[in-house]
Amino acid sequence: MADRVVVIGGGIIGLSAAWALRKQGWTVTVVTNRDFGYGASRVNAGWVSPGWAEPVPSPGLVRNSMKWMRSSSSPLYIQPSVRPSFIRWLVEFWRHCNAKEYWHGVEALAALGRQTFGHFDELRADGIEFEEHRDGILFVFQTPQGLEHELDAFARFTPRNGLQFQGPIVGDDLRELEPALTGKIYGGVWMTQERSIRPDTLNAGLVKWLTEHGVELRSRVAVEGLTIDGNKVTDVVFDRGRLETDAVLIAAGAWSPQIARYAKRRVPIEGGKGYSLDYTPSPVEIRHPIEIFDYRHVITPLDGRTRLAGTMEFSGANAVIRPERVESIVRGTADIIRGWPTDLSIPVISSGLRPMAPDGLPIIGWLPGYRNLAVATGHGMMGLTLGPSTGAAIADFMTTGGTRELLHPFDPARF
Ligand SMILES: Cc1cc2nc3c(=O)[nH]c(=O)nc-3n(C[C@H](O)[C@H](O)[C@H](O)COP(=O)(O)OP(=O)(O)OC[C@H]3O[C@@H](n4cnc5c(N)ncnc54)[C@H](O)[C@@H]3O)c2cc1C
Repeated sequence: MADRVVVIGGGIIGLSAAWALRKQGWTVTVVTNRDFGYGASRVNAGWVSPGWAEPVPSPGLVRNSMKWMRSSSSPLYIQPSVRPSFIRWLVEFWRHCNAKEYWHGVEALAALGRQTFGHFDELRADGIEFEEHRDGILFVFQTPQGLEHELDAFARFTPRNGLQFQGPIVGDDLRELEPALTGKIYGGVWMTQERSIRPDTLNAGLVKWLTEHGVELRSRVAVEGLTIDGNKVTDVVFDRGRLETDAVLIAAGAWSPQIARYAKRRVPIEGGKGYSLDYTPSPVEIRHPIEIFDYRHVITPLDGRTRLAGTMEFSGANAVIRPERVESIVRGTADIIRGWPTDLSIPVISSGLRPMAPDGLPIIGWLPGYRNLAVATGHGMMGLTLGPSTGAAIADFMTTGGTRELLHPFDPARF
């Protein structure tokens, strides 16, 4: 077994992979060009939700996205661009918006997420501390038709991982469960076993564990090249110096394509920007994580604060905050939560880039033609949920050299 590995990227995927690789006996170095946990891995909504794992490309999305492209406050916004790599990505994305590939993706994600809760429990058993809540997730709907339509999907989704839901919940039963909801909400479905965590506490917990277990952590170091010898990477080149290694894992989120280019490989990832808004303290007491299904915005109550999150925007790899998109999240929340303030100066607003592959599935495995260069990215809206499970799967295939059936749908060679 090769014993030195450099993990490029200090988000949830890189940190989880480092945790699992270290446990398999590897000598691990993690390098990241910002602070650990920067970006999507810090600003996400904190949902650990294997029961609702779906690829973003889905039947009907082409029609909707055409309509949404005209409004920059819609749930999905695609900024027109002439960048050739984006046009190619977008065409591939639209091609995957069909029922066959969607359900294939649902099955693949369900299989990867089957051990999710077990892996989060394993983190805790290893002494990694993080803020976690077990209040399930409440999906709420404004109309009886909307609720009725989605009930079928809940019935198809949840049993895959042995998970359960309660619903439809309407009237007094719903207000008793979540008193903060306004009369605009007709009904809900409660996935009772889903969890939520505060993402920065998990990142910090992982960093602490890695430090205590001999992993070298280098922040504010940018990877600027890979030295290739035949079908192997021998060195990782930084802005300051280089490091000889036996293996490399690219886990650089939305920036993974540029690292893969150093090895002359295409990893088709675009950044799908999302926003989060932190209210400390929470202006209204909310008991459960809530998804406002009609808007696709989410609300996560945490200790001493509430986080709102949402929207998907393809407008390049930048951190620019568009006020109209943030406003749509606040307005949607004020619609359904009694007394929620609309003053945009209250929350701390952040953005993050979800790494999105055109088929909506992660890209995990050896890069074609390489024997010691692997990639783990493309987790889209599911990176926190699937992080520890991905870490465990990576450690398994990098240690044994082979890939289990579980990872076949995520093979980088499919592009
Ligand atoms: C608003 C929002 C809400 C979300 N909610 C949820 C949720 O509730 N549940 C869920 O499961 N998922 C959620 N997600 C998705 C999840 O956050 C992402 O899938 C996940 O964070 C991706 O992790 P990553 O490690 O692949 O990428 P990142 O977190 O982007 O990490 C990549 C790292 O690589 C580093 N890097 C980049 N280039 C270089 C370089 N050249 N050299 C060195 N380092 C480099 C970056 O600095 C960064 O730290 C959400 C995302 C957003 C934006």
